[in-house]
Amino acid sequence: MDAIILGTGSGLPQADKNLSGLLVRKHDSLVLADCGDGCTKRLLELKIGADDLDAIFITHYHPDHVSGLFMLLQWLFLAGRTKALYLFLPERPAAIIEIMQLMYTFIQKFKFKLQVLDMEQAELYFDWITTIGTDHLLGYSDIIREHNLSNQMKSWSVKFTCEAGVLVYSSDIGTTDCIAGFIKGVHTLIVDAGHPEADQILKLKYLDIHRVILTHGISNSLEIRKQELEEGLFLFAKEGHVYRV
Ligand SMILES: [Zn+2]
Repeated sequence: MDAIILGTGSGLPQADKNLSGLLVRKHDSLVLADCGDGCTKRLLELKIGADDLDAIFITHYHPDHVSGLFMLLQWLFLAGRTKALYLFLPERPAAIIEIMQLMYTFIQKFKFKLQVLDMEQAELYFDWITTIGTDHLLGYSDIIREHNLSNQMKSWSVKFTCEAGVLVYSSDIGTTDCIAGFIKGVHTLIVDAGHPEADQILKLKYLDIHRVILTHGISNSLEIRKQELEEGLFLFAKEGHVYRV
């Protein structure tokens, strides 16, 4: 199984970093987790064809994770994709179809079947992929309650399993505690190092993980304690590098 990190940037755009996207290939299956702005250009640079992707997983609706989805779907439409595509969404999937319609991107015109599903259903369609809810968006509960908004605060980590081992993409998380059971003993963890405090990242060394790849920036507290990151266990993500499990 191979994984390519398309973007290591966080929500604050930087000139030298792309936004979130993780391409995972297992045998003949190719899936994309998250689709930040510029994702389609990165796929084209990697010579990915319009019929190559089997599924897209959006972990949550922050713009750095979903803003590229609409251009990606437009590309697949204009490039004449014919193969069915699974699109797993974190919450309220119908809202995304409405936004596409707002952008005059009519799925009725697609030559491929776009199967839009809830993240919870991923495992039913891809037996090597599982998901778990995270704490990333829970901080919005006050504003959502106060204004009676429809946001469900759903955010997900995704696990990819192959014969050789397991890869987890945490996506954005408030703490690593919220996914500790999910990541224990995995071969490779690609983890958000921008949101959790340093303690939360440093304690990963007790979870029997072979390799921890830090992405999505670095928190101030971790920046200060960088020298405590064990060499050989922790490494900083490189865009475009192929990580093999
Ligand atoms: Zn993010």
